[in-house]
Amino acid sequence: MTNGEQKLSEEQWQAILNNDVSCDGEFFYAVKTTGIFCRPSCKSRLPKQEHVRIFENAQEALSAQYRPCKRCKPTGERLPDKEWVSVITEYIEHNFTEPLTLEILAETCHGSPYHLHRTFKNIMEKTPLDYIQQKRIEKASEYLVHTNMAVTDIARKVGIPNTPYFTTLFKKRTGCTPTQYRQQHQQEASNAIQ
Ligand SMILES: [Zn+2]
Repeated sequence: MTNGEQKLSEEQWQAILNNDVSCDGEFFYAVKTTGIFCRPSCKSRLPKQEHVRIFENAQEALSAQYRPCKRCKPTGERLPDKEWVSVITEYIEHNFTEPLTLEILAETCHGSPYHLHRTFKNIMEKTPLDYIQQKRIEKASEYLVHTNMAVTDIARKVGIPNTPYFTTLFKKRTGCTPTQYRQQHQQEASNAIQ
């Protein structure tokens, strides 16, 4: 065994299996077959246990000729919460029309669902789901005013395929139904032109 390398313990293996973010920084694992090393929380494909090598820190893994994983960036500083949340909001802004769950966000943005939810709420003062719905309703409002698409189509297009649910959510957030909203704002828009 080279300097700094440790024997893989059962706890470490469990941490790797569960992508346990709370173990980040405690150790790093390298995979012999790929030549890459990761943080315990990395969502990359699970290696075979016998190919795993454990290092106490990133420097030792580098000295042993392993390359840092591009996904979990084990040599970089942990992203400050604010930056992490801006990665998450940016992802939401580009993907809110797709089915998005806390689990999908957590997997894409590298953290546990619990940790993501809590950090997001601390910084944005709303939950990730609230933020997703806000984006969807904003986009739907645009479609209502600037297109003649049917409400059902708009609902589907902004990622809420269940139209009754969309209508309820829309009313809750804007105070009127999608149809009322369209009438009011299209009226205003045509008044403005005249
Ligand atoms: Zn990784």
